[in-house]
Amino acid sequence: MPIVRPTLLALLMLAFSICQGFPASARDRAKEDAAPAAHKLVILVHGGAGSARPGGLPEEDEAAYRAALAHALETGYAVLAKGGAAIDAVQAAIVTLEDNPLFNAGKGAVFTADGRNEMDSSIMDGSTRNAGAVAGVTIVKNPILAARAVMDKSPHVMLARDGADSFAREQGLKIVDPSYFYTEKRWQQLLRARKAARDHAALPATTHFGTVGAVALDSHGHIAAGTSTGGMTMKRYGRIGDSPIIGAGTYASDRSCAVSATGWGEFFIRGTAARDICARVQFTGASIQDAADTVLADLKDMGGTGGVLALKPDGDFAFSFTTQLMFRGVKTAERQDVYIFAGEDRHDGK
Ligand code: ASP
Repeated sequence: MPIVRPTLLALLMLAFSICQGFPASARDRAKEDAAPAAHKLVILVHGGAGSARPGGLPEEDEAAYRAALAHALETGYAVLAKGGAAIDAVQAAIVTLEDNPLFNAGKGAVFTADGRNEMDSSIMDGSTRNAGAVAGVTIVKNPILAARAVMDKSPHVMLARDGADSFAREQGLKIVDPSYFYTEKRWQQLLRARKAARDHAALPATTHFGTVGAVALDSHGHIAAGTSTGGMTMKRYGRIGDSPIIGAGTYASDRSCAVSATGWGEFFIRGTAARDICARVQFTGASIQDAADTVLADLKDMGGTGGVLALKPDGDFAFSFTTQLMFRGVKTAERQDVYIFAGEDRHDGK
């Protein structure tokens, strides 16, 4: 007993002094300050979906695609690592892909039937569900920046054609001569597509793929998505695909998920693909992979193929595509991986 009593007293005194030193609110604050950013950093990018089996791409092309995707991932991730917003990471990653002539977005965009480049792009911030989009722009060097300007600097969500070009100019974005977008590869694709149309043959499989997109999760737990494209080779009559349409080619909400799509746009519009994936996540409790696979399978039943990137605010993500390949990659604190063909990654869908 004589030993126990001083020990108890000491414990009581210790407890008292701890409470004195740390009133409840200060204790809680100390806990908050000490907590590291609770959210994973994740960025996913794509460079379009298409048809070619392993070995079906020239070796130097394959290496160039992988390098371009890695560069986009690193550029976007650097924004996240500095504590930047998901939407800024998405934008930064997409700018690198638009500037790369390999992809059907910005420089390297496909040609319309009358030999022009008309580009579509959109971006969405999951934290506010603010969004911006441009359709049919012809002189804006980086259409994703025009989409962002529509979101930030106008009361609208989508601007089109001459009006969108003028708005971008007024906003001080970089304007280029339409010849900037020309690449010999895309021009030859148009010539082949014109010939196929004359011969009533199927369009060559590689004539339009190469749309780019990104989704990201930032240190505040917010997600965002963006997509940019030249559309489909030999499009006519001011045709607009899914890429600039919020809910079809692009969608982001912190309540559900962020999606960027690529593929045969008409089907993605009819299937409200991006929103449908996120609605499944939000209302049915489906996993992100199941939601994406289900919607892609449904579009395939309708007759349209393509692929998506999908990402949830908790960091779960999916690649899903119904084509033979999708140029794609992911970067987190633990991994940086780039894939082209089906089956290269466990996150691949059906
Ligand atoms: N979805 C784009 C469009 O239909 C094309 C693509 O992603 O390949 O305009």
